Amino acid sequence: MKKTFLLICFSIYCTITIYGQHNAISFHSPLNIPLKLSANFGELRSNHFHMGLDFKTNKTEGYPIFSIDKGYVSRVRISPNGYGKVVYVNHPNGLTSVYAHCSKFNAVIDSVMQMLQIEQGENEIDVFFTVNEIQVEYGELIAYSGNTGHSQGPHLHFEIRNTETQKALNPLLFGFEIADHISPEINSLRLYSLTQEGYIIPGKIQKLSLPNKNNGQITAVDTMSIQSNFLCEDGYMGFSFEMQDLFDGESNLCGIYATRLEIDDQLEFCQAIDSIDFIDSRYINSHMDYSAFTNEKRHFQKTFRTEENPLDIYPCDQNGIKKVEAKKVYHLVFSAKDFENNKTTLNLKFQADSTSFMSCSDIFPAEKYLLPDSSYTYKNEKIRFLISKNTFYEPVLKNLSLKAPFSIGDAKQPIQKTITVAIKSPEIDSEKYYVQVITSGGVKKALNSKLLNGWITAASEYLGAFSLNQDKTAPTIIAYNFNIKNQKISRSQIAWKIQDATTSIESYDLYVDGIWKPVYFDNKSDTIGFEIPKNFSGKHQFKVVASDYCKNTQAWEATLNIE
Ligand SMILES: [Zn+2]
Repeated sequence: MKKTFLLICFSIYCTITIYGQHNAISFHSPLNIPLKLSANFGELRSNHFHMGLDFKTNKTEGYPIFSIDKGYVSRVRISPNGYGKVVYVNHPNGLTSVYAHCSKFNAVIDSVMQMLQIEQGENEIDVFFTVNEIQVEYGELIAYSGNTGHSQGPHLHFEIRNTETQKALNPLLFGFEIADHISPEINSLRLYSLTQEGYIIPGKIQKLSLPNKNNGQITAVDTMSIQSNFLCEDGYMGFSFEMQDLFDGESNLCGIYATRLEIDDQLEFCQAIDSIDFIDSRYINSHMDYSAFTNEKRHFQKTFRTEENPLDIYPCDQNGIKKVEAKKVYHLVFSAKDFENNKTTLNLKFQADSTSFMSCSDIFPAEKYLLPDSSYTYKNEKIRFLISKNTFYEPVLKNLSLKAPFSIGDAKQPIQKTITVAIKSPEIDSEKYYVQVITSGGVKKALNSKLLNGWITAASEYLGAFSLNQDKTAPTIIAYNFNIKNQKISRSQIAWKIQDATTSIESYDLYVDGIWKPVYFDNKSDTIGFEIPKNFSGKHQFKVVASDYCKNTQAWEATLNIE
């Protein structure tokens, strides 16, 4: 794995030598303020790794963003979700830089995007450009920082990708220097009884807290004793570690760059987060101890992996699934390292002191569990569940009910692929039905559903209980930052709040004097805003139309007197 990455780097550097004027360390900074991180590459998130660096912007929006090198704008997307307003720039050296959550684009990109929005009659667009359309210079202003899309506060999310593969690369590999003299912390560890495949045997988790030291060395004095009847007779086990990293002068807890596990001087497992493929990012659910994350909101990274886990972050062949013998004392050395080579090492002895290992002939019987290497179809005249191969990371309790209330799987378990759920519609052509799932913690989610041949059909990324519900209520639209009764409106932007109580907003459109105008939906405030142009005073007709996913439509209309 490591070799592959070095080859990619090698080819990038080759291209730099041939075509590029700037080598890696002479990239322009994307911001004109000191670069401080609020998140690093590979940080553990819900269902994905963090694929770039988050740069702080002093809790405000509007800082100019600069292209790190010359090249051309290859993609611009406007979406209320994900990256919000985002610009991609392809560079001649084979790299793409990405600038996300922008508040606005530069004048050229802004006018091109508005023109395309109007041409397509769509607020949310994703546009790919070719080399001769919007070229940019080294350090050219391309956008302004913001908080659009799925962002918890103003910052710049910055990525570097391999243009050809679109794999995200660790931007710290390219000379963006962030002061870091602090070693990672290793706070606690967990030990698991495993099957030969590396699946955690239900309930077989042993926990150990460590003295919270930051001096780079942790030595546990006592030998960790493995409880009797913890391991199966074949003796397979693995570890996970709760760790965090800090940069100088910052309080944000960042992810760990590299780890290495040795037992009795033998390498058992290693990790180095240099690049992550977007297709694989959801396998974080297999990389982490998922139950610790859902039940305790704690991030334990496993030092063992299953065959199904394709992540490119393990640069050695060892899978960390350790076979141990009774009564033998093992010496474990685990180290965690950040990108600047600050390292913390844990020394620990452990011993399975019981001679009575469990008998484990049929841990995951096929009649009780859904297995990773199988596909499943369950159906009758009312319900259909379709599950493709490699949907599960580990065996998952089946909990199958084909009678209402319908259910499948353990709601607490994550899945890699969506499952198809179809419930027979009581009416032939109603669009007002949707599939609802009750998932982990009793949370109810309305799934985007379609009527297909008499079945209300949805792709669910959750396991749990499913039912058919109806949404016959249209969204609400209210004046957000102005009073409709006021004689005159003297704002630079007027906004409306658009919400749907049952499903969610599928479309929103603004017409001014009968002409469709592009607007941005801010899903943190559920608002759309209209910037009032210069020389726009006087009376104008405003109309807002919004629909939910069950095709319920609402319209808001008024004549406003603009000052
Ligand atoms: Zn980010």
